[in-house]
Amino acid sequence: AKASGRNTWELHDSSQSDPAVDRLQLLGELRRAIAGGELRVYYQPRVNLRSGNLTGVEALVRWEHPTRGLLPPSDFIELAEESGLIRELGAWVLDEAVAQAVRWAAAQPDRGPVEMAVNLSTRQLADPELPRRVGSVLARHGFNPSLLTLEITETSLMIGPEAALKALGALKALGVGLAVDDFGTGYSSLTYLRQFPVDELKIDRSFVSGLGINSGDSAIVASCVQLAHAVGIKAVAEGVETEEQREALIGLDCDLAQGYHYARPLPADELASWFAMESPD
Ligand code: C2E
Ligand code: CA
Ligand code: CA
Ligand code: CA
Repeated sequence: AKASGRNTWELHDSSQSDPAVDRLQLLGELRRAIAGGELRVYYQPRVNLRSGNLTGVEALVRWEHPTRGLLPPSDFIELAEESGLIRELGAWVLDEAVAQAVRWAAAQPDRGPVEMAVNLSTRQLADPELPRRVGSVLARHGFNPSLLTLEITETSLMIGPEAALKALGALKALGVGLAVDDFGTGYSSLTYLRQFPVDELKIDRSFVSGLGINSGDSAIVASCVQLAHAVGIKAVAEGVETEEQREALIGLDCDLAQGYHYARPLPADELASWFAMESPD
């Protein structure tokens, strides 16, 4: 079919999508998006399982792409991580989330403070400048460090025990809380929990969704909760979607929950009514 060089050229024309080219284009767009204000932070409520009260929110980034629509993090976080853009992106999310927590607290003075949880990527954790950056965001907004929790995946802790310990120690020294995210999906969970100064363990949705259906998952969730309590930290269940799961988690003495059963991640203005409605613990 490709008799001539010209035809060969046409095979690689714009109609044909080349993953490397797509990636490069998206990278350029993401760089502009961060600078140009196309990123958004959505917030998902975190609820005290026993009282049902809102305790705070987790910040989850979105990209309001001019032509592709609202993009979830799975479409661009990995690219940001690989390219190093995650530092800029992460810094923006942290700043925006802390600013929003301060706005909510100011708008609802009777309600008490709003706890804010922000995700950190591997590359951010490995950045020696991270603790200083976090400290300056807190100072700039006058935000109480104990109201901020940084969520770190088990995989991120594999940057090496020394580097991870150093980073976590420096963050801890600022007074912020630390959570192990997606708990149960990596290895050496037990070792990490003993070694690192973490305050909460977030049980991965893949186990929570099997609660009451799969006895293996139920046993895993039960032992995660016990493990957290044995080392004196809180257990948080992610991805709670049903009333049955909520009841099972209460039965297992899990502390906090997040999930579509309570609320999806929402833009800040749509959460304002939640704050007005719910009384503090
Ligand atoms: P994650 O930290 O484990 O966040 C929980 C994810 O589960 C969120 O997806 C949330 O929308 C979703 N989720 C919450 N409740 C339910 C539920 O009941 N059912 C189901 N099916 N899903 C639920 P999202 O927002 O798409 O974020 C995906 C991942 O992207 C996050 O997982 C986190 O690892 C990463 N991410 C999001 N925002 C940031 C960020 O600002 N920085 C970094 N480094 N990573 C981020
Ligand atoms: Ca998280
Ligand atoms: Ca998680
Ligand atoms: Ca997860």
